[in-house]
Amino acid sequence: MIIHPKPDASEAELDQLTRSLQGARVPDHPDRAIVTPSALKEVPAELRDLVQESFPLLNDLQLAARAYQKQTRSVTLGSVSIGGETGATVFIAGPCSVESEEQIEACAKTVSELGITILRAGCYKPRTSPYTFQGLGAEGLRLLGAMRQRYGLAIITEVRDATHFDAVAEASDIVQIGAKAMYDHGLLRGCGQLRKPVLLKRHFGATLQELAQAAEFILSAGNDQVVLCERGIRTYETGTRFTLDLCGAAWLKEKTNLPIVIDPSHAMGYAYGVADLARASAAFGVDGLLVEAHPSPTAALSDASQQLDFSQLAALHHSLPPILSAVGRSLR
Ligand code: PEP
Ligand code: MN
Repeated sequence: MIIHPKPDASEAELDQLTRSLQGARVPDHPDRAIVTPSALKEVPAELRDLVQESFPLLNDLQLAARAYQKQTRSVTLGSVSIGGETGATVFIAGPCSVESEEQIEACAKTVSELGITILRAGCYKPRTSPYTFQGLGAEGLRLLGAMRQRYGLAIITEVRDATHFDAVAEASDIVQIGAKAMYDHGLLRGCGQLRKPVLLKRHFGATLQELAQAAEFILSAGNDQVVLCERGIRTYETGTRFTLDLCGAAWLKEKTNLPIVIDPSHAMGYAYGVADLARASAAFGVDGLLVEAHPSPTAALSDASQQLDFSQLAALHHSLPPILSAVGRSLR
């Protein structure tokens, strides 16, 4: 249950209320919210004087639940926001990895010429093999900082583990928690301490409820700026890398108040399907699309098979406005 105490309740009274209900206070919450285990369905009579409003919830999808907050949260970075009620679908693009200054500069230039405002690229890569390119690390973060300066782009980059948490948090406008790290509670708790946006990707073996509850770790620590990303789940199919779960995206839209971004690149695993899936996702009315693109995809050091070249990226980008407008949305 989420409880909004009366505005005149003292801090000591709130601590007492929290303790008696085995709950936790949400730091920096505008309504000084307390979240209790979801098994609690009613505020005990003797504590009601302290309570302004209470929200009994079905399960531990609480702060992220639409049943708690009807409107989709707006996650703001500079002049761009993701989610909210603006009807904008934000296009996010960039290479899988930062590979060199020349490569990331080519990406940043193309992205900004298309009017895209958010550049995404990884520096600490969670690879499936230790023998492949692992990312440029701190040098990659430095190059992304230079692209922000030069092109005015907002930067998303991934935190792989706790060893470089502070450096990534400092260097990014949105911190990405990748699919494989969705269950890393150190990272989730670390992101809860930040006061900047976090893009949380769904693990390919996670249920929707597990994804939503991973987001609750960040929200309950006081960071209210979480964006969810569907990037494909593992099924019996081996012809594609993963399977894009649009049913799941519908569930997330219906049940949660968090903005939803769809990443067709990692779902498909092959460039040939990415534009069609991005268009289907645009028609679906999601808050954002995340697409990988590279100046020379076949030479890419990671995810070579799925990255679009720049002409494919431009063609996709140009094809989106009529699709979005048909569903009452616009491209941002
Ligand atoms: C990525 O975004 O480049 C990435 C590694 O994706 P995921 O975490 O979805 O596998
Ligand atoms: Mn990738």
